[in-house]
Amino acid sequence: MIKLVIFDLDDTLYNEKDFVFGGFFEVCKYLSEKYSISFDEIFKETKKILFENGRGKIFDVLCQSYNIKEDIDTLVSIYRNASPKLILYKDSELVLNALKDKYKLGLITDGMASVQWNKIKLLGIENYFDKIIVTDDYGRAFYKPSESSFLHMLKSFKLNSKEAVYVGDNPNKDFIGARKAGLYTVRIIREVGEHKDVRLSSEYEADFLISNMEELLAFLKGVL
Ligand SMILES: [Mg+2]
Repeated sequence: MIKLVIFDLDDTLYNEKDFVFGGFFEVCKYLSEKYSISFDEIFKETKKILFENGRGKIFDVLCQSYNIKEDIDTLVSIYRNASPKLILYKDSELVLNALKDKYKLGLITDGMASVQWNKIKLLGIENYFDKIIVTDDYGRAFYKPSESSFLHMLKSFKLNSKEAVYVGDNPNKDFIGARKAGLYTVRIIREVGEHKDVRLSSEYEADFLISNMEELLAFLKGVL
């Protein structure tokens, strides 16, 4: 019987682009004021660089294209400390509310600790969870796809692996560790999301696929 439902954060519970674009907004505001560049133009350009090049050296490319000699660390820091308005996906909010009194709830998320805690705070979701593991707080060895964070989570509730399920969106790293730890795994494939078209070999994929968080309720009933 499932007693513990653990969620990934980015692109599982909310649209991570809301945070990314919120960070871009602050960086572009800073650059447009400092260098008298049209905000709309530079904001559009930043998004274009993301779509064309993916994540990585976005601000380097941006400064190059405008011939700006700016300290990239300053821009990265502005990005990381941005406070955009973040909201849960409607179905995530509904499901968290439906589950919070019936199950133990956990959150396991990768990424720089200060940034991930900032997102958690901006979403206002701390109180939904009985335990939150920002893997960065525990060191690199805890980053997904390691099974360490899953084992740590099970241990803190004194549960065995078949009493827990992990819900995530990224088959590159979300499920392989959770599977090694013996948990059930559920992959949410939303209409938007960086990994929606990625299909990997079976050890990387989840046991179950859902396209809406509300299907998780049906999954939980099936196992019970
Ligand atoms: Mg994710």
